[in-house]
Amino acid sequence: MSIPRPTAQQLRGLAGDGGYQRGLDCARRGRVLHTSWDADAETLTAEVLGGGHGPYRCRARFRGGEILSTSCTCPVPRGCKHVVAALLVAPGMLIGEDRARHATRESARVAGRVGQVPGVTGVIVSPPGGPAEIVAGA
Ligand SMILES: [Zn+2]
Repeated sequence: MSIPRPTAQQLRGLAGDGGYQRGLDCARRGRVLHTSWDADAETLTAEVLGGGHGPYRCRARFRGGEILSTSCTCPVPRGCKHVVAALLVAPGMLIGEDRARHATRESARVAGRVGQVPGVTGVIVSPPGGPAEIVAGA
């Protein structure tokens, strides 16, 4: 199966509201260096830059599309922002700042006003059919 796309609600449940926001920020800043999806094991692994001590290695295990467990080599015991960032980036839910710059015309059209509004640096692409959500910079 392809990599699951966790909902914002699932990610908030995982990391709390603050952790979700920090993960979003982390992903938007392009801190997620690498992601790898093992379809057989339903396991996502990722390397995410931390605050000068990275990269941390994150892992999220799924079962039937539900997040089963997560781990990270950072000091936060569970549900850290690195895992949230990896879960956002891996299925292509979020285009980081650098990637947004190179987005196709179609993506730019979907993204709407990116580049025209100061502070808008990233875009969350919603599931097909859903409206695109623009994320304002911090
Ligand atoms: Zn972490």
